[in-house]
Amino acid sequence: MTRLFRARRLPEQPGPAAWNALLPPAPAAGRLDQDITVDIAVIGAGFAGLSAARRLAQIDPAARVAVLEAGRVAEGPAGRNSGFMIDLPHDLSSSDYAGQGADDDAAQIALNRHAIAFAAQAAQESGLTPDEFDPCGKINAAATEAGHHHNLAYARHLQRLDETCTLLDDDRMRDLTGTDYYRSGLFTPGTVMLQPAAYIRGLSQVLGANVTLYEQSPVDALTGGSDHWILQCGPAKVTAAKVILATNGHAESFGFFAGRLIHVFTYASMTEPLDGNAMEALGGAGKWALTPADPMGSTLRRISTAQGDRILIRSRFTCNPSMRVGRGLMASAGRSHDRGFRARFPMLDGVAMQYRWAGQLCMSWNGVPAFGEIEDGLYAACCQNGLGVAKGTLSGIAAAELALGADGMAVEGMSNCAAPRRLPPAVLTWAGANLLMRWKEWRSGREC
Ligand SMILES: Cc1cc2nc3c(=O)[nH]c(=O)nc-3n(C[C@H](O)[C@H](O)[C@H](O)COP(=O)(O)OP(=O)(O)OC[C@H]3O[C@@H](n4cnc5c(N)ncnc54)[C@H](O)[C@@H]3O)c2cc1C
Repeated sequence: MTRLFRARRLPEQPGPAAWNALLPPAPAAGRLDQDITVDIAVIGAGFAGLSAARRLAQIDPAARVAVLEAGRVAEGPAGRNSGFMIDLPHDLSSSDYAGQGADDDAAQIALNRHAIAFAAQAAQESGLTPDEFDPCGKINAAATEAGHHHNLAYARHLQRLDETCTLLDDDRMRDLTGTDYYRSGLFTPGTVMLQPAAYIRGLSQVLGANVTLYEQSPVDALTGGSDHWILQCGPAKVTAAKVILATNGHAESFGFFAGRLIHVFTYASMTEPLDGNAMEALGGAGKWALTPADPMGSTLRRISTAQGDRILIRSRFTCNPSMRVGRGLMASAGRSHDRGFRARFPMLDGVAMQYRWAGQLCMSWNGVPAFGEIEDGLYAACCQNGLGVAKGTLSGIAAAELALGADGMAVEGMSNCAAPRRLPPAVLTWAGANLLMRWKEWRSGREC
């Protein structure tokens, strides 16, 4: 029986991929312009797809692997995130990031660290600089008493897990960030801070000699035969014995996991380079990375790049079942970023935002990935629940191990995960979720 899955829509990336724009121009894209036959095709070149391809090559250096990416590497969500590769539980739907329970959290931490070790090896092989792959840890920053209490609750949870964390007082936070906005911080040492576009480009360079990456080669349709798949990419076809679908929320564009995935966008702005006067007025350390103590608050980073020192602010989540965001949402998020930035850094009054963008996430109602063999020979490594830097890496590694029947910690850890639960009726889900998120954002107050 022939199985046909057409892509109802292809990814659109709102605004520039700032991190990628800071790097030297990428070499010209290699597009798929002729029919090919491979052992395994990977769809999507984000954390999941590229990690899957590298792991496939590690397990079977003789397997012919093709990676098909709709856009350019590092222009999609993998290159436009905030770069926190987080080892600890970080449940965005909770009030304080604590996960489901001590046993689940300990298992997830071990898996996240496995993914981080895989990424560290790729970063080393691809020659990333210490600024581009920086195992410096992160701080959960609290601007309010409520946020401070979230930090204390999270610290207790981490102590129960035997995880190291250090509470920083307001003086320490001011010394570090240059602003007296923060009431406290909770430092955890295991997060790696990425220049995400540099990491993704670097990873794409160390996939293995048997892997070919095709950019600007969207897969329009998948047809499953008895022992192979045919991928239609414009006029060209890929014939593959097996396929790994690493398209995150766009799994649903092919009809997979219909009514089970929540399509969310989040938004970021990055300043122009800080000049000498601005840096002197700001003070503080040259680099820091803050997640908000309330998950609905603002993430901030001060970064040092060849294109100068800058500050990034990320906040706002919107549910967008169309997988598109318009100018109104972008403008509104930009105003929110400006308010948050001015409130924190009044001394940087003249500093403007150079880049503003948004990017797509995928969540499930029960916080689980969309993972596993979903049709004969077709494997999903999707739905990273907003934490795809570590979890996408992990699901890509696990999908490669599953597809090749190999043993590994990743596939062992992910093979028993539950399936994404069916969502309530669409209207309730999308309208309700947007209202709930706006209310939670309002309630987070100065954390935003
Ligand atoms: C502003 C922002 C900040 C974020 N910050 C963080 C953070 O600090 N830490 C963290 O863990 N997560 C963060 N995230 C989330 C993180 O970026 C995602 O979870 C992660 O990128 C998901 O990885 P992935 O490989 O599963 O999917 P993606 O990175 O989305 O990659 C999927 C790829 O599939 C391609 N694709 C889709 N359809 C097709 C098709 N038909 N044919 C070919 N290719 C196709 C897409 O073009 C895309 O490149 C952030 C996201 C945003 C937008």
